[in-house]
Amino acid sequence: MARFKEADARLLNKKVCMKCDARNAPRATRCRKCGYEGLRQKAKESRKA
Ligand SMILES: [Zn+2]
Repeated sequence: MARFKEADARLLNKKVCMKCDARNAPRATRCRKCGYEGLRQKAKESRKA
């Protein structure tokens, strides 16, 4: 079974609103849904580097 590398990459390229959990573009500065500026990178750094 192949791992979902592409899916992982996509996850890494997202920002998640800390207020409403909406996913935003990686370069977004504020949530497109609620306008909140508290976006965090959805960056699970690979556990097995
Ligand atoms: Zn939001």
